[in-house]
Amino acid sequence: MELKEGRKYKDRNGDTWMCVRVNLQKEAHCQADCINLSYLASAEVEYFFLDGRYDNGGTNPRTLVEELPPPVLGPSLNELRDEALRIATSHGFTDASVGEDIALMHSELSEALEDYRACRSPTWYEYQMLGCDPSTFKTFNAFEAEGSERKLGPYRKPVGIPSEMADVIIRVLHFCGKHGIDIGRAVREKMLYNDSRPFKHGGKTL
Ligand SMILES: [Mg+2]
Repeated sequence: MELKEGRKYKDRNGDTWMCVRVNLQKEAHCQADCINLSYLASAEVEYFFLDGRYDNGGTNPRTLVEELPPPVLGPSLNELRDEALRIATSHGFTDASVGEDIALMHSELSEALEDYRACRSPTWYEYQMLGCDPSTFKTFNAFEAEGSERKLGPYRKPVGIPSEMADVIIRVLHFCGKHGIDIGRAVREKMLYNDSRPFKHGGKTL
């Protein structure tokens, strides 16, 4: 059976495993912390199988008997990253420093907090009808511009906490695109690691 990264397989016992590609030389730091090396010890590049946890070692590919159908997915994080970079670049947002980009990520969370302060629930959102002033090319709120000469444009701006959560993600993806970060892989690895940690690890209450 040909094994493909990211796909899930059933073994003879009915357990499910995910195929993850691991480069032993590049990721020695990761293996030391969270992967049982017994299965990988001799390979430079090898497939590694997980059932959603880093801490239970691998399985022998020969025990796998069935490839499960792929889930129906939307665009991957890396595809969204590339689109976020394209949109930001085509609108001229290319010059922010690392520190400025991170501050802008914070600013979107602050906007979500302001919505919450205005008694809006986490799921509330609406669309602001915006127009465009031809003399300045600046958008304006159509509800505030009734009776003016300014023209209504096609803009419907989503507002509310869901929209600010989207802004946070878009800014993070734009940053990852600028710096060539494989955010799809980073998120997957971190979630697997988090799932392997003890209940309320470190005695934390939150
Ligand atoms: Mg925003």
